[in-house]
Parts: sequence; C-alpha cells; structure tokens
Amino acid sequence: MLKNRFETIFFDADDTLWENEMFFRQAEEKFAELLADYTDREGLQQLLWQKQEDNIPLFGYGSKTYMIGMTDAALELCGGKLPEHIYYGVKKIITDLAFHEFKLIDGVQETLEALSGHYRLVVATKGDVTEQMFKYRRSGLDRYFHHCEVMENKDEKNYLELAAKNDLQPEQLLMVGNSVKSDIAPVINVGGWAINTPHDVVWVHEMMDMPESDRILIVQNVKEIVRFLL
Ligand SMILES: [Mg+2]
Repeated sequence: MLKNRFETIFFDADDTLWENEMFFRQAEEKFAELLADYTDREGLQQLLWQKQEDNIPLFGYGSKTYMIGMTDAALELCGGKLPEHIYYGVKKIITDLAFHEFKLIDGVQETLEALSGHYRLVVATKGDVTEQMFKYRRSGLDRYFHHCEVMENKDEKNYLELAAKNDLQPEQLLMVGNSVKSDIAPVINVGGWAINTPHDVVWVHEMMDMPESDRILIVQNVKEIVRFLL
C-alpha cells in the first residue's frame, strides 16, 4: 500500500532516529538525587511534570525549557531560596543531557542507507533549533537527508505548513515516528500517511491512543519499513 506512492519520507528524530527520552529519564534521576534532602522521589516527579507543562506553552520543547522547569521545581522545594550548588547542579544535568548523551537507535543506519537512493528523506523534528541541529549534525545521518526541519510544534497546522514548504499536497505526506500524538494522529488528520515505530520509553506529555486509519502502519523496528517501501 505504500510502494510507489511517495517521493519524500519525513522522519521524526527523537526516539525515532536517536535515543532521547531515556536520557531525560536519567536526567530526572540525577535531579532527584540532587534534591534528595528536600523531598521524596514521588512528589518530585509530579512537581517536575507540572512545571514542565507550565513552561512548554511559553518556551517550547527542549532541554532549556526543562532547565527552567527543574529550576522552578527546585526553588519551590527549597522554600524560595535556591542554593548555588542546586542551581549549578541543575545546569550540569541539563548540559550533559543536551550536549553529551547521544545514541543512534538500532536499525536506523541501514534503513536510511537502503531508502536514501530511492526517496528524498527529510527530518521533521520539533524542539529547540540549536539543540536539534546539534544532534542532527552529530548523528552523521545528514548525508542521507535532503534537509532537517525543526518545527515549532507538530499539530495539524504545522504539518500543513510542512507539506506546503516541501511543495507537497497533504496526502503526499508520509511521516515515520515514535509518537502517536506528534507523528501519527495529526498527519492522519490532514489526510497524510504515517508509520509508527513505537519506543518503549514514552514521555507522559506524548501519551495518546492510536487513531483508527488504514493509512497507518505499525512496525516494531524501523528497519522493517524498507520492505514496505522498496
Ligand atoms: Mg519522537
């Protein structure tokens, strides 16, 4: 059903091309250790999620927003006075997260290698431009891709803009990604097609039930998509 239908394939990046969420979970673990004298883990996790949700609409996605959320949570837990070692501890956790941790997902390299001569491949990610472009260049995957789009968000409006910018009709969109909420549902809603590559670590913010559509394919590993596309 997918062969000979598309010229361009869009790939999500975080948790589709490279690991991301596991590093955020590890950062939360480090944050819990840093704040161990002030609260228990359970209370801290809830507070942190709430602070993240408060800040995303203002500052978008990415680790800088996470730093604001962590700092807000720490300030509250420390009774309105943030000790220097806590502030710099948070900053180190975030710097390590954004610029040191990197791991490609199994199967990605050979999948892109197989598809790149047959399709125009484009990265469609959301988040902080500096951070996402840093990961994109560092990945070494840029040789397979035509370009990388860093989107402000991934709702229906953003996907219609993505199609228009790439001179495509919405029904010519084929998106590959791990997130039902960001990579699958909005693409289906505008008339496009989607391949879901589920990841076992899902951010609470991204949780959503899979919509019903015959324009969705679900695979367990990204390398399975090659036989549906070539
Ligand atoms: Mg993703």
